[in-house]
Amino acid sequence: MIRLRLKPGRDESVRRRHPWLFSGAIASAEGDGSDGLAEVADAGGRVLAHGAYSPGSQIVARLWTFDGRVPGEDLFRERLRAARRLREEVLPAETTGYRAVNSEGDACPGVLLDVYGETAVLELLTEGTESWAPALESAVREVFAPAELLVKRSGASRDRKQKHSPPGAGRGEGEGGEARRVPFLENGLRFAADVGAGQKTGFFLDQRENRSRLRALAAGRTVLDLFSYSGAFSVAALAGGAARAVDVDSSAAALELSREHRAANGFAAGDADFVEADVFDDVRRRAAAGERWDVVVCDPPAFAKKRADVDRAARGYKDVNRVAMALVAPGGWLLTCSCSGLVGADLFQKIVFAASLDAGVPFAIVARQGAGPDHPVSLDCPEGEYLKGLWLRRA
Ligand code: SAH
Repeated sequence: MIRLRLKPGRDESVRRRHPWLFSGAIASAEGDGSDGLAEVADAGGRVLAHGAYSPGSQIVARLWTFDGRVPGEDLFRERLRAARRLREEVLPAETTGYRAVNSEGDACPGVLLDVYGETAVLELLTEGTESWAPALESAVREVFAPAELLVKRSGASRDRKQKHSPPGAGRGEGEGGEARRVPFLENGLRFAADVGAGQKTGFFLDQRENRSRLRALAAGRTVLDLFSYSGAFSVAALAGGAARAVDVDSSAAALELSREHRAANGFAAGDADFVEADVFDDVRRRAAAGERWDVVVCDPPAFAKKRADVDRAARGYKDVNRVAMALVAPGGWLLTCSCSGLVGADLFQKIVFAASLDAGVPFAIVARQGAGPDHPVSLDCPEGEYLKGLWLRRA
């Protein structure tokens, strides 16, 4: 264990239970911290919190307790059980793929757990939680009893990157490995997560609610799914009776998964339904050809990963939205999303407004929908909210 003593006057955020302790607040340290445990005390020596120690990160500790309790397997089991109970209350029927533990949102800072049917993927997001791996794994096995548990350690590499840029909360993004597909259900639809080589832990579980909305309004409509990854939006639209759905993504591997997802759900598809292209070029070609779609979905990757990216990201969002808006038929819909935690909801709405002015196409916001209830956000750590989705209807 390492004992971290805060500088005078730098204990406010810890007293407010904010789970991120920045290295700049530390006056002195004592002990080696090789077990990943940090004890945090104010300038007068009073212990305020305990957490996971990440010496390589700007966030030198992620705080787990503020009541003197020392994190360990008992605490992990308790937190995981609470997380499991929440999912039992909020998940829809016929859904076996879900986020089971959402880091700060489940009082488990630095830990993600995604469940795909019989397989669970534990992602350790920080150096500190990586050093707790054995105890965390054993708690996961006990509470969730998965047939198979995979562990992704993205902590140390992420911490090194973060040293140079402030943190943004995000979707989590494990490093790629060997392709491995694990089947699961989302609202009765058959999907497979690529838990080896895929993005995130293999699937974008955070868009479940938006996919159900799309399914509910897709009947008879044409759908253009931009940044489609494994085509889950299109599958939901076809399940809702869409006339046609086209996926656009720059990743051939993602489009291959899209094909498999359509087939697994019994939807016929042709080569023209899967377009390997840069979306920025593709939407321009479509606009120049005068195409109109009843529904356009735009769910790009996080354009802003650090604060210095925000202006460039804003231009990217505005650009792609402006062109996408021109593709929406009168009476049609645009679901536009941003998963950059650093681009807040207000800023995103302003960017989308500016895009609509430039496009000369009026839209109304009909619904705002971010990540589903299996992605809780702690009031203590609002940075955990990253996904914004605006459902826009063209007048
Ligand atoms: N909507 C998806 C998730 C999208 S993730 C879902 O619900 O599953 C973002 C996707 O954008 C990734 O698949 C990535 O390959 C793709 N991508 C990133 N930049 C791109 C670009 N410039 N053009 C096309 N696709 C891009």
